[in-house]
Amino acid sequence: MSTNMQQQADAVRQAAAKLWRSENGPLTHDLVQQPGKFGLGRLPAGKTPNATTQMVCGFCATGCSLNIHLRDGQAINLTPTVDYPVNSGMACPKGWESLSVLKSSGRGTTPLLRNGRGKLAPVSWPEAMAAFRDRLQETQARHGVESVAFLSTGQMPTEEMAFLGALAKFGMGMVHGDGNTRQCMASAVVAYKQAFGFDAPPYTYQDFEQSDVIVLIGSNLCIAHPIMWQRVLKNPHRPEIIVVDPRKTETAMAATEHLALRPKSDLALLYGLAHILIAEDWLDRKYIAAHTSGFDDFCAHVAEFTPQRVAEASGISAAQLHRIANIIHAGKRVSFWWTMGVNQSYEGVRTAQAIINLALMTGNIGRAGAGANSITGQCNAMGSRLFSNTTNLLGGRDFESAQDRGQVADILGIDAACIPDRPSWSYNEILEGILRDKIKGLWVVCTNTAHSWINQNTCRDILDRLDFLVVQDMYSNTETAQLADLYLPAAGWGEKDGTFINSERRVGVIKKVVRAPGQALADFSIFRLIAEYWGCGRMFADWTDPEAVFHKLKELSRGRPCDISGIADYQMLDQRGGIQWPYPEEGGADNDKNHTHRRLFEDGKFYHADGRARFIFETPRAMPEPPNKRYPYLLLTGRGAAAQWHTQTRTACSAVLRELAPQQAYVEIHPQDARREGLRPNQEAIVESQRGRIRAKVFVTPTVQEGQVFIPMHFEQTNQLTHAHFDPHSKQPSYKDCAVRVRRAESWDDV
Ligand code: SF4
Repeated sequence: MSTNMQQQADAVRQAAAKLWRSENGPLTHDLVQQPGKFGLGRLPAGKTPNATTQMVCGFCATGCSLNIHLRDGQAINLTPTVDYPVNSGMACPKGWESLSVLKSSGRGTTPLLRNGRGKLAPVSWPEAMAAFRDRLQETQARHGVESVAFLSTGQMPTEEMAFLGALAKFGMGMVHGDGNTRQCMASAVVAYKQAFGFDAPPYTYQDFEQSDVIVLIGSNLCIAHPIMWQRVLKNPHRPEIIVVDPRKTETAMAATEHLALRPKSDLALLYGLAHILIAEDWLDRKYIAAHTSGFDDFCAHVAEFTPQRVAEASGISAAQLHRIANIIHAGKRVSFWWTMGVNQSYEGVRTAQAIINLALMTGNIGRAGAGANSITGQCNAMGSRLFSNTTNLLGGRDFESAQDRGQVADILGIDAACIPDRPSWSYNEILEGILRDKIKGLWVVCTNTAHSWINQNTCRDILDRLDFLVVQDMYSNTETAQLADLYLPAAGWGEKDGTFINSERRVGVIKKVVRAPGQALADFSIFRLIAEYWGCGRMFADWTDPEAVFHKLKELSRGRPCDISGIADYQMLDQRGGIQWPYPEEGGADNDKNHTHRRLFEDGKFYHADGRARFIFETPRAMPEPPNKRYPYLLLTGRGAAAQWHTQTRTACSAVLRELAPQQAYVEIHPQDARREGLRPNQEAIVESQRGRIRAKVFVTPTVQEGQVFIPMHFEQTNQLTHAHFDPHSKQPSYKDCAVRVRRAESWDDV
């Protein structure tokens, strides 16, 4: 090794040890020399060793608060926080098991590098950093700086997302980077931006309790967001609950009206409802005139969506359509809620906007119990939407705007020329870029692409084509980590500090209450290490800890719709039970008016230059791969049980959660179809699409309609079947419509 290289390796060794010491308390030995040693965990500020501290849950976007009980400064147990405005003492099974999922044999404890024999083998942090730098810089030198990209997440604290996005794009020269939020929220983001002028879910959870009509579209709230569902149940107004879903889900069973429509007929159905509201003049004409634009064109568009035509398309009778329109008309406080059943569609953006249109035309927005409300999925999807530096430049800005780039450069004290002047490719475009030999190096942080991406076999083939794949994750045993050339072990929720933003725009804190295993470092520390080793450490010299970055985020938000400049520090978030944006420094008394529950657009002013919301619409399109003679069933995918989370890398680590959900893939099929195919309950079946063939246990149930089958998304096999097609505006994958056939498995080898 040359003297220079030796010096750099020593510097990294010292930096890694220092970062690890700062995360783990004073150590008398060098981490790199003694892997696997634990130091003393750092106590939450101002707490005694045996105490309770509060932090936001790290699973879903509900953002419940959990009391973490400490002994000798370490978390030993938790209970839901009673006086937090989100969950009021409730938590779902995932929240209760948050600490136990941290203990798993699958946790990464040391960096791993693929060796000459093709095996991942332990290496030191200096070796890992050298490999990271050398291989990716070599790739950039040979194929151009754009040939290296990153895939980020909605699971990390906002400060880490911002660091990753800034490091990759401003420090390392990358242009392309996207997040796994593309898989769940992209359609809602585009819908809001186009309709409201900014990506701004307008509601507060209190609206669940204040509505007299609650319309849930493509949302199995009861299972996917159980604590939000609890709030619906606490509604004292005996609300009408209308569920629009092809399946008779747990939520549909509890509804007052279930519209079991044909899959992907939701856009036509929503236009049909608008048609009836217009025909009956059940409109808030004053609101439409004062606060919206494009209504006349919208009226002309929906004129052809007569109840008869929509009934034919959706399978919902004209009489039921009329009844639903009447319920919406009769409601005084009508709230519309949607999630993945809408977003994960090849026409998700326009469907979300069709929902927004209903709220606008009936004046159900900016009032208690109203709103066109997209519910997010991941714990920090909302942080990702504003600060991940992927689709948007930091703070919801535009990479293509010289003014926006200049603002960010001034705030961060960097040269504006470091900021890419064009937006990133989306997730699918990055993968296609690998196929086209444009992307040769990929850095995947805190997401499990090889499991969760649509049409998985093609996706894995694409990842295999990379010259160098880096995976940074809590777990070294994910499907994606197993494909990596370099694996970097990261700390998880509970092992580091930062903030999340929940579905109702509430910023809340997470804290380090447990030590990360082995040599694992917080993602924040890994980014600091990479910045040093890459040669751009000076650019991030004052990105010293998450709270220092939080203050940068405040400045980046100043004057924007998502302004959080009035939040003093983490302590204020702790004391206030989280704070919803906007919370501008100059907000004064307005900030504190109803400060625990605030909604947007109460003044009827939207973020477009003219202050008006837009009616946006488009002609519905046919499903690209409908059932056919060879593949006669339509496959629907979605959440299985409240105890399962996404690709189950975490929830499968809990013995309790494993007991609460089936561990083997299963396929729900209607009794008539099961009879036709000769399938009996609990038998093994083969489910095939044009792309793959999987085994699944048969679950015979009338909750799916004839001609449709359902498989939860949590199982590794599910995405071997799905068909890679996307919404053209949001580039979000359409996971819930592809043609399959189902037959009995003849033997165990029959896959
Ligand atoms: Fe955590 Fe979501 Fe469950 Fe609340 S509902 S405890 S945020 S997983």
